[in-house]
Amino acid sequence: MSASRPLRVAVVGSGPAAFYAAGHLLVGDDPPAAVDMIERLPTPWGLVRLGVAPDHPKLKEVSRAYEKIAQRPGFRFLGNVEVGKVVEHDELMRLYDAVVYAVGAQTDRQLGIPGEDLPGSWAATELVAWYNGHPDYQHLSFDLSGERAVVIGNGNVALDVARMLALTREELEPTDTTDPAIEAIAESGIREIVVLGRRGPVQAAWTPTELHEMGELAGADILVDPVDLELDSASEAELAAASNIVQRNVEILRDFAAREPAGKWRAVRLRFRASPVAMFGEEKVESVEIVRNRLEVDSAGRVRAMPTDEREVIPCGIVFRSVGYHGVPLPGVPFDEAMGTMPNASGRVLDASGAPIPGLYAAGWIKRGPTGVIGTNKKDATETVERLLEDARAGVLPTADSGRIEDLLAERGIQLVMYPGWEAIDALERARGEKLGRPRVKLRTWDELLKVARG
Ligand code: NAP
Repeated sequence: MSASRPLRVAVVGSGPAAFYAAGHLLVGDDPPAAVDMIERLPTPWGLVRLGVAPDHPKLKEVSRAYEKIAQRPGFRFLGNVEVGKVVEHDELMRLYDAVVYAVGAQTDRQLGIPGEDLPGSWAATELVAWYNGHPDYQHLSFDLSGERAVVIGNGNVALDVARMLALTREELEPTDTTDPAIEAIAESGIREIVVLGRRGPVQAAWTPTELHEMGELAGADILVDPVDLELDSASEAELAAASNIVQRNVEILRDFAAREPAGKWRAVRLRFRASPVAMFGEEKVESVEIVRNRLEVDSAGRVRAMPTDEREVIPCGIVFRSVGYHGVPLPGVPFDEAMGTMPNASGRVLDASGAPIPGLYAAGWIKRGPTGVIGTNKKDATETVERLLEDARAGVLPTADSGRIEDLLAERGIQLVMYPGWEAIDALERARGEKLGRPRVKLRTWDELLKVARG
């Protein structure tokens, strides 16, 4: 490899892991590298644009670092290119010296209970994609007319969804939530949002900043039953040895439980040790049946939820299942169905015999599963790229042929959206937002996005 023939790497995906991988590839020169970032959508940044809650603009500001990476020599953005559809994995392996998949975890985990597929039972990720303006989710219509919504899960996504449903028009308007979502949420009939955790307050997966915010909402009280905070012996022991994060979570919950409700229009109720066992309804979901759990330590030392005989039916108008994401396989690329990841050793993708496939790597959620915060992906992607560069220096990468992806895509009639196309979208969205005191007003359809990208 030389400056005139740098290492040619395709990074598939354009979320945090993809950008950190590209940034690390382009920062050194041993060997020099050129990166084509290949993205299915006409827009970059993955979940930073389309997953992070719109009322968390500070978190979205991480995109400034990605803009800087995109300016580095050797970087190209190739949007509107779906791998497995307009270009195959094998073709990428021929066109590049190395391919790094950083495609995230693109579907939701299932509960596996009766009634889960009733209309009105949604994956939380569908609501998230809708209020964030993802062009594939704008046709969805959420019936928010019922008085109660149930959110299943105790992670940060569950809190995002519960909080977004509880925001007032005044809280939503300064954000880049789409206009139809602002209208639907502000005008919704929802009075109570019940968040269900199958284990206890000590085992919740959310983080203190996000939990604390639930007590600061202008239009919604936070309700926690003090009885739910009485800890069993397994949880007492876990709390005593727990991280500051868990200790802080429990302190915040105790503060919530001690509060007198202010009588706001809406309420968010956090409940624990309750697993959904069925959803009922004639034409759409009308209730969720839950079983009360007790907690016990299993042989691996993990506190587990065990069902008791106590059941309860919670009437509701809509349900959001927020029990984690799951990776999606790509044709021709090894995949571990149970884990929802590409089997790998420190980012080197492994074949069925456990041997690394030369030139094939994974980073981010498709490598380690859907855990951690945005910054976690920096260390993760850096590790993958270090292995890739080691392999390049050791001469074990296959050499790409001389073809160019843009020629292949032109033959197939694909409109490539390169970085200037995205910059045109970005500038227009920001200009539309500026007039209204909002960070941006997003383009929400493929047609609009591709038209603006074309100039
Ligand atoms: P998560 O953190 O893995 O939480 C999943 C939740 O679902 C857990 O409470 C889990 O309970 C529960 N669950 C799983 N299976 C269940 C079942 N069958 N019945 C009932 N509950 C079940 O996932 P996430 O909320 O989707 O978040 C994904 C990642 O993105 C996390 O790392 C999260 O921190 C991050 N994120 C961060 C932010 C932020 O920083 N503001 C915002 C959004 C997301 P158990 O623990 O009992 O398994």
